[in-house]
Amino acid sequence: MEQRHARNVIIGSGAMGAATAYHLAKRGEPVLLLEQFAIGHDRGSSHGVARITRHSYADPRYARLMLDAFRAWKDLEADAGQNLYLRTGGLSFCPPEVDYVSQVAASLQAIEIPHRRMSGRELRRSFPVFELPENYDVVFEPDAGLIAAARAIAAQLELARQFGGDRTQVLAECPVRSIDLEGNKPIVITDHHRISADRLIVTAGAWAGRLLPNFPVTLRPTRQQVLYLRPQDPHLFAPGRFPVFIHKGAGPLDDFYGMPEYQGQGVKLARHGGPDVDPDVEDRRIEEPYLEVIRHFLTQTIPMLVNAPIEQTEVCLYTTTPDEHFRLGIPPDCPNLVIASPCSGHGFKFSCLIGRILADLATQGTTEIAIAPWQL
Ligand SMILES: Cc1cc2nc3c(=O)[nH]c(=O)nc-3n(C[C@H](O)[C@H](O)[C@H](O)COP(=O)(O)OP(=O)(O)OC[C@H]3O[C@@H](n4cnc5c(N)ncnc54)[C@H](O)[C@@H]3O)c2cc1C
Repeated sequence: MEQRHARNVIIGSGAMGAATAYHLAKRGEPVLLLEQFAIGHDRGSSHGVARITRHSYADPRYARLMLDAFRAWKDLEADAGQNLYLRTGGLSFCPPEVDYVSQVAASLQAIEIPHRRMSGRELRRSFPVFELPENYDVVFEPDAGLIAAARAIAAQLELARQFGGDRTQVLAECPVRSIDLEGNKPIVITDHHRISADRLIVTAGAWAGRLLPNFPVTLRPTRQQVLYLRPQDPHLFAPGRFPVFIHKGAGPLDDFYGMPEYQGQGVKLARHGGPDVDPDVEDRRIEEPYLEVIRHFLTQTIPMLVNAPIEQTEVCLYTTTPDEHFRLGIPPDCPNLVIASPCSGHGFKFSCLIGRILADLATQGTTEIAIAPWQL
C-alpha cells in the first residue's frame, strides 16, 4: 500500500466535490480528488444535462443564499469562457389551500427579485400549455432557468487542472474504504493508498453517511425517477416558450417539477421524492405506478404532454436530511474535516457557491457567506 501525504483531499467528484476542487485550485491550493466511479458517472446525484435554478424559495434564507449563488455561477462562466446558465423563467404553483406561492412571493419581495403573482386563469394567457385550475396560486420569476449540469461539473474539473497544473490530481475508480479521524490528521484508506491529509473534505453524496457514521443527522439516500417526454409540437416546449416549473401539492408526494427541452433531450418531468435505497444497488427501473402518477399530474396541469412518448429515462439519488435542509461545515471535534451534504433534491443550483464555502472553510476555517442556518 502506497503511503502518501496530501494537503487537501476531497472525496467525491459530483457537483460539490468538483466545485470545491475548482475553488481550491484557483487559490493556488493543491488538490487530491478521489472518486469511486468514473468521472461523470450516472450512479449518484449530479448526472444529466440540466438542473433548475431559481431564487424562488419559500424559505427566505435559501432565496437570499441564491443571490450569492447566481454571482458564483457568473464568475465560473467567466473563468470557463462558456455559458452555463440559461434564463428560461420559472413558475411556482400550488392549489389555493397550500401556503407555498405566497411564501415564495414574499421571499422574492424581500430580496428584490422581479416576479409576477397570478392565478391559474391568468397563467393560461401567458403560457397556454399550462391548464391549471383557475384558482391555483402562481408566481413567475423571469430570472429562473437552467444550469447545464454535466458541462458545469466538467468545466470546474478542467479549471481545477488548469489552475493547479500538476498540483491538481483526480483519481477516478478509487473508492475510499474508510476514514480514520482519531489522530492529528485525517487518514484516508483506499485499495492502494494510505493518505494522511492536512484537510479532508467529504462531498460523498448518498454515500456520506457510510463514510461518516457519526454524522449528526440521518442522511437518507432515496431513489428518483426522471422522464424525458417528446412533445408533439416541440416549439411550444422550447426554452423561451416553456419555463422551468415547480408544483407544490398538499401532501409530501405531491411535488413535481419540469423543464423545457434542452439539448434535444425532451421535456424533463419528475416527482420530487422517492423510496429509500441502498446507493450501491443499481436499479434503473421506472415503475408503472410512477408513470400513472405523472400522467395524472399532467392531466391536471399540462394535458398536451399526457400522451407524449417517453424519449429517455434516468434514475438518480437524493441524499435527504430529515428537514430537507443542507448540512455543512467543520464538526466541532474535528478541525481538519469539512463536510457538505447539500442535496435533499435541491442542491445543484448552490453547488458552485458551496465549493467556494468549502474552500473557505478548508483554508481559513470560516467563510464570509452566511451559512449559520446549515452549519453543523
Ligand atoms: C433527479 C434529480 C433532480 C435534481 N434536480 C435538481 C434541480 O433541478 N435543481 C437543483 O438545484 N438540484 C437538483 N437536484 C439535486 C442536486 O443534483 C444535488 O444536490 C447535487 O447533485 C448533489 O451533489 P453531490 O456532489 O453532493 O453528490 P453526488 O453527485 O452524488 O457526488 C458524490 C460523489 O461522491 C462519490 N463517492 C461517494 N463515496 C465515495 C467513496 N467512498 N470514495 C470515493 N468517492 C465516493 C460518488 O461516487 C459521487 O460521485 C436533483 C437531484 C436529482 C437526483
